[in-house]
This record gives sequence, structure tokens and C-alpha cells, in this order.
Amino acid sequence: MQAAATQDVRHNWTLAEVNALYALPFNDLLFQAQSIHRQFFTPNEVQISTLLSIKTGACAEDCKYCPQSGHYNTGLERERLLEVEKVLTQAAAAKAQGASRFCMGAAWSNPKQRDMPYIIEMVKGVKELGLETCMTLGMLDNTQAQMLAGAGLDYYNHNLDTSPEFYGEIITTRSYQDRLDTLSHVRDAGMKVCCGGIVGMGESANDRSALLMQLANLPEHPQSVPINMLVKVKGTPLENVDDLDGFEFIRTIAVARIMLPQSHVRLSAGRSRMNEQMQALCFFAGANSIFYGDKLLTTDNPEANADMQLFAKLGIKPEQRADVSDEAHELALADAINEQVNPPLYHAAQ
Ligand code: SF4
Repeated sequence: MQAAATQDVRHNWTLAEVNALYALPFNDLLFQAQSIHRQFFTPNEVQISTLLSIKTGACAEDCKYCPQSGHYNTGLERERLLEVEKVLTQAAAAKAQGASRFCMGAAWSNPKQRDMPYIIEMVKGVKELGLETCMTLGMLDNTQAQMLAGAGLDYYNHNLDTSPEFYGEIITTRSYQDRLDTLSHVRDAGMKVCCGGIVGMGESANDRSALLMQLANLPEHPQSVPINMLVKVKGTPLENVDDLDGFEFIRTIAVARIMLPQSHVRLSAGRSRMNEQMQALCFFAGANSIFYGDKLLTTDNPEANADMQLFAKLGIKPEQRADVSDEAHELALADAINEQVNPPLYHAAQ
């Protein structure tokens, strides 16, 4: 019988090593990933986050996968920055449904100074509700990162998207180095980093390995690593790109788990296209975070109650925050399962 693998936390991966992991027989790769997962995390627990689009569309960047880019006509309805009160109402609803983290996303290249007071109020208000906070607002300078950290923001999301080599095929309006700089400002300000990428954009297998190598070789591993499967949106330049094989996606989750053993690996955009069995394999491969609800920014997310049913089938429990009592959390989730309703947790972003 094969011995369970052990894994050190490394920052010196080579492309050859990553490619070798991808090339393992599927069952060996998943066994290794699951073994490592159990060294660092409680099995059968998945962290649940809720995501709200606080400003939608008309983004100045040209990310070729994104319906929110102002460069493409996808029919997306544009929305200004939401009022603070509305954001807090949505956050309270998310908490009542069992979310432990509330993520707020704005389609900006970077926040303007005039937006910062509102953003700060949102962070403080959501924190006061007892939720962890995460924001994704585009590039940050050092001062903005310090301001957000001062307001109590727990996580900042800024993805690397793909490999440095393929990046120019996807985005031309900002550089890979711009992204690394923002990540560095976030780390220096003491916030946790949420950083991952997207697969299925027409990149090569080497590009997928190189993305994971970039993430794992950062000075600190991102605490949260979203692995997205491209959602092809009509009107974007990637609307007709070839589908990525599902096994290649599961392998990417498994390799991420092995290389980033302490990070939450998030099954993120694209989950709505995956059946229950594929999601179950992703959890086995080491994914331990999802977005919960009916919208994931502007792409569909499986219905909230479908998530709870899948959790029940798999014996998975939502990961709890230390400061949330078992009883309160269990009650909220029991409500979610029993009611079988699909409340409008999300601002209708499309
Ligand atoms: S991914 Fe973000 S930065 Fe890129 S176009 Fe979409 S909203 Fe803008």
C-alpha cells in the first residue's frame, strides 16, 4: 500500500516538479492531495463565503474573460457603487444563511480616493456584524492598502489570473508586475491575501503549471486560492474558446492543494457548470472553500439550497469561525437546509 504523502511548505517549486505532479496517475495524484489535505485541515469541512457585487460593469481593464469590462458588449447592466446601507443589509442576510465571510467586489481598475470613505464604512459595518471581510477592488497603492487594513479588512482578493507567459494574451491594460505589486502592498499592510487564477482560457498545460508555481513561490502563500474554471460569456473575446477537460480541472485543484498545503483552495467561478460528482471530486482533491448563494459576481452559482443538499450527501460541514458558537451556526444552517428556499442574497448584478 502506498504511504500517505507529507508536504513541507515550500516556495521554491520548479516547472518540472509541477509538471511531474500533473503527470501522476489520477488516483495517485488525488490520494497524495487528500493525504496532504488531512495534515493541514479538518477533513469534511468547507469554508463558505458570500460574494456581493458592490459596483458592476464599465471596468476600464480589458480582461478578455470578463463581462464587466467596458471594452466588450455583453449586455451587462452597469451599476454604480452600492449604498453602504444596502451592502450591510445583504451582509446580514448572508450571515443568517451561515456565511462566515462576506466578500465585496467592485469592477474597478483601482479604487479612487473619493470612493475610499464609503469602502471603509462598508468594511467596518460588515465587521460589526461579526463576519470576516474580503474585498476585491482592483489595484491598490500602499496608502490604500494601509487604509483598508486600518478599517479591519481581513482579506484582499487580487488574482494573478494565469501564467506570466500567457498573461499578455488575456490582459493588456495592466501588467503582471502591477498585480504582484498590489499583492505586495496587501501583504505589507498585514492583510490576508486571496489570490488565484482562471483555467480553461486556452492556456497550455505548462501555463497552468506556471500559474501554480507563481502562487506557491510568492514570499507567503496566499491564505485563500480561488481556482476558477472559465465561464464563457457571450460578447467577450473568450466566448468560443475550447472547453477544458474536467479531469484537468480536478488535477489543477489537486496540484494546488499539494503545493499550497496551508491555503484554502476555493472552488470558485464555473462551479455552476459542474455536476455534483465533479464537485465531490474537487473536494476530495483538496478544495475546501466555496461561494454560497445564487450569484457569483456576474456568473451563475449553483443555488444555495443545492449546495446544502450536496453537503448533506457528502457529509461535509461548513467550517466554523472560532468566534461563532456551534449552536448558532448549526441553527442557521439547519434553517437553510430545511427551508429549501433561495433568498435573494445577492444584488442582481446582471
Ligand atoms: S476582471 Fe476585474 S479588472 Fe478585469 S475587466 Fe473584470 S472587473 Fe475589470
